[in-house]
Amino acid sequence: MNDIVRIFDTTLRDGEQAPGASMTLAEKVMLAQLLDRMGVDILEAGFPVSSPHQFESVQAVAEAARRPVIAALARAVKVDLQAAIDALQGAQYPRIHTFIATSDIHLTAKFGEAKYGTTLAEKRRTILKMAVEAVQMARAFTSDVEFSAEDAGRTDPGYLCDVLAAVVEAGATTLNIPDTTGYCLPHEYGALFARVRAMIPDTRVVLSAHCHDDLGLATANSLAAVAAGARQVECTLNGLGERAGNASLEEVVMALHTRGEAFGVATNIVAAQLMDASRAAQQATGFPVAPNKAIVGRNAFAHEAGIHQHGILKNRATYEIMRPQDVGQDPDAGIRLGRHSGRAGLFSRLEKIGATLTSLNLDDIYERFVLLADRKKELYDTDLRHLLSSSSPDAVMPAYQLQHFRVLVETGQDPKADVTVFEKHEGTTSTTTGTGDGPVSALYSALDAATGQPHELVSYSIRSVSEGADAVGEVTALIGHSGAFFRGVARHTDVLQASAEAYLDALNQLEAYRNDRNGVRFAGEGIMSSFGG
Ligand code: MN
Repeated sequence: MNDIVRIFDTTLRDGEQAPGASMTLAEKVMLAQLLDRMGVDILEAGFPVSSPHQFESVQAVAEAARRPVIAALARAVKVDLQAAIDALQGAQYPRIHTFIATSDIHLTAKFGEAKYGTTLAEKRRTILKMAVEAVQMARAFTSDVEFSAEDAGRTDPGYLCDVLAAVVEAGATTLNIPDTTGYCLPHEYGALFARVRAMIPDTRVVLSAHCHDDLGLATANSLAAVAAGARQVECTLNGLGERAGNASLEEVVMALHTRGEAFGVATNIVAAQLMDASRAAQQATGFPVAPNKAIVGRNAFAHEAGIHQHGILKNRATYEIMRPQDVGQDPDAGIRLGRHSGRAGLFSRLEKIGATLTSLNLDDIYERFVLLADRKKELYDTDLRHLLSSSSPDAVMPAYQLQHFRVLVETGQDPKADVTVFEKHEGTTSTTTGTGDGPVSALYSALDAATGQPHELVSYSIRSVSEGADAVGEVTALIGHSGAFFRGVARHTDVLQASAEAYLDALNQLEAYRNDRNGVRFAGEGIMSSFGG
C-alpha cells in the first residue's frame, strides 16, 4: 500500500501574491471548482484579514468546493484568527493555517519592538508562546489546524524543533516547514524533515513542504521532503507565486506519479485534468506559461528534431517518460514540423492529412518542405496541402499580402483605417477602408473589405514577449468559418502592425483551406454533376 501525499493547492493564496496575478472572485470560484474536481486534498482559499476581497473569496470558495478541506491563512494573532474563523463558517471541512516567523533574521526585523523582548532569546520565547496561543485558539474552532514556521528553511533547527513540538502539544495537526525564501538545497531540506520526523514520530501529525523557486529548486526540494517523510506538499498551478513562484503542482504531481516507485507514495490527483487546470489558471491570471514549461507547456511533448521524430513515431517511449494524454495534452499535437524536422515526421503528417505517399515524388516534396520551413517558423496542415498540390514554390505564397495600412484615432471620433492589400490570384492591389469601436476593429473591418471572405473573429489576444517601451507584442487572431478554425500569429513592436499581420495570416489560411475544398469538390462530386447536369 502506497502512502498518500496530500496536495495542498495555494494558487488562490500564495499564487495570487505573484505581482500582477490578481484574480476576480468569479475566477477564483471557477478555479476552485476545477481543483476540487481534479482531486486536490486541501485548497487554500485566501488570507481573510488582509482585505474584504480575501475574506469574501474564502467564503465563496468554501461554498463552491465541498469535497476538499478549505484552508484560510492567519498570522498568529487574534484579529487574523478571528477573521479566518468567520470566513470559514460555511466550510464543510475548515482548516485554520496559522503562521509566525521563526528565523533570527525575521525575528530581528519583524519583531524589533521591545514588547517582543530585547534579546534574541527573549524574542524566541515570545514567538513560541504566540505560536502556541494561536494554535489553541484555532483548535477551539476546528480540529484541523496547520502551523507554519515562516522562513523555516533559514531557522536554527534546534529552535524550529522546540516550536514545532510545542504547537503539536497545543493541538496542531499539520506542521508546515516552509522554505519561504527558496534558499535551501534538496539534501538540506530533506535532512530538516528527517530531523523533525524523528522528533515527532506520530504520523497522525502530517509534515508539509512549502517551497519557492528562487534557485529553481522548488520541485526538487518538495520531493526531497517527501522522501524524508513529508505527506503534504503545498504548491500552485503553473508554479505561480511570489517572486520566482511556488513549487508547481503539475511538476510535483507528475514526478510522484511517474516515479512513484522511488518514493512509495501516490496522490489523489486526476492527472488527465492538469492541462485544463493550467489553462484556466493562465487565463484567470493573465500569466501564460513558457512553451518549454514542464508538463503543461505547449512544447512539453512536442518533437521537432528529425531524429527524435523518427524515434517517437516508432515508439513514444524512446524520448518520452510520460504520455501526453496522461496530463491532458493532445497526443497528435506532438509532432511539430519546422526546419529541424526530418522525412519521417513530414511523411507521417502527410499520411495523417490523407496523402497517398506511394503516388508522390517524396524527394521533391521534402526538398520544397525544407525551403518553406526556412521561411516559416512552423508549418501547419494547410501549408502541407499546398506542398502537395503544387510544384511551384510560389504557390505557397499567401493569397493576400499587406502592403500598407493607416489607422486614425482621434478623441470623440470613431477610429478609421485604410489598408492596401495585394491579391495574388488576381494580381491586383486594392485599398479599402473601415471603421470600428477601436483601432484594431477599424483595421479588421478594412481587411474584411479587402478580402471579402465570410468568417467570424473568434478571439483576439495580445501579449508582450519582451520588456520595455519597445517591447514586442505578439498578437493571436482566431477566426472560424463553418466549423473550421484558423489561428494567425504575428509579432511586431507596432502592435497594430502585428494585429493586421496576424489577422491576414488567419485569413490566408482560410483562403487556402477553401481552395483545397474547392479542389476536392471538383475532382469528386463536381465532375459527376458536370456530366449529370
Ligand atoms: Mn510562500
